[in-house]
Amino acid sequence: MCGAFSDKWFDVSKRCGKQAVPLQVEWGKPINPSEVDGKLATGQFDAVTLIHNETSTGVMSPLKEISDVVRRYPEVIFIVDSVSSFSALPIPMDDLGIDLMLTGSQKALALPPGLSLFAASQRAFERAAQLDDRGYYFDLLEFRKNAEEFMTPSTPTIPHIYALRSKLEDIFSEGLQNRFERHIQTNRLVHEWVNTNGFEFFAQEGYRSVTLTCVKNNREIDVAAFAKRVRDEHGFQIDGGYGKIKGKTFRISNMGDETVETMEPLFDALTTTLKTL
Ligand SMILES: *Cc1c(COP(=O)(O)O)cnc(C)c1O
Repeated sequence: MCGAFSDKWFDVSKRCGKQAVPLQVEWGKPINPSEVDGKLATGQFDAVTLIHNETSTGVMSPLKEISDVVRRYPEVIFIVDSVSSFSALPIPMDDLGIDLMLTGSQKALALPPGLSLFAASQRAFERAAQLDDRGYYFDLLEFRKNAEEFMTPSTPTIPHIYALRSKLEDIFSEGLQNRFERHIQTNRLVHEWVNTNGFEFFAQEGYRSVTLTCVKNNREIDVAAFAKRVRDEHGFQIDGGYGKIKGKTFRISNMGDETVETMEPLFDALTTTLKTL
């Protein structure tokens, strides 16, 4: 747990009746692979959940290093939330040994909210088959059985599936490599804006997200007023900080469809507003 979404996952796990143990680090820091190792070495765990990109803090945890640790424990199911990183950088699910990879339509894929996507490993299917209390809605075996007949366990949001198909066509016609590079390039521009304007980063160096930047409000500006003016006067929406870091940070996203051309007017708006705040 290193931010609002991973903190929430712990809460959700408990509310689903699972025995869950937090591995909490300070917000702004990544998940430390050796601490994961320390927990797993106790032999008390059969699953690890990880948020790859903590959208509240702008931290991208070291997925490869954490995967290397988890995969030393073959009995442990590795569940990764890639909601705000999926398709923005390579996440080789099979190579990393991820058992369940989850994402949503509304963040890195830049589709309307309303659709969740997941992929499951063979090990995840096998584990599911050993469990009696899988429920129905997220039962992997039920999904697989239905998929064999080109069906889903319940009626899905079909308009989103058309939207996804269209988005996938866009992604493959841009080319994955180009998409990855575009995220690096637009993210670099965000970093330049932060540095040029005397701000700092909330996320620890070396673990800063390539899709979203959490800016530390070291200049102590009125973030709410800033975001409101950027919205009202320029038509851009930036986030004024999530949860307990509201006002102490603000967030700029470059995920999904953003390009240098779409980001530059945003930087102009931010700079102009800042000068007269
Ligand atoms: C946004 C987000 C979610 C899901 O958020 P909802 O708004 O509840 O759909 C989950 N994980 C991460 C990392 C997110 O950024």
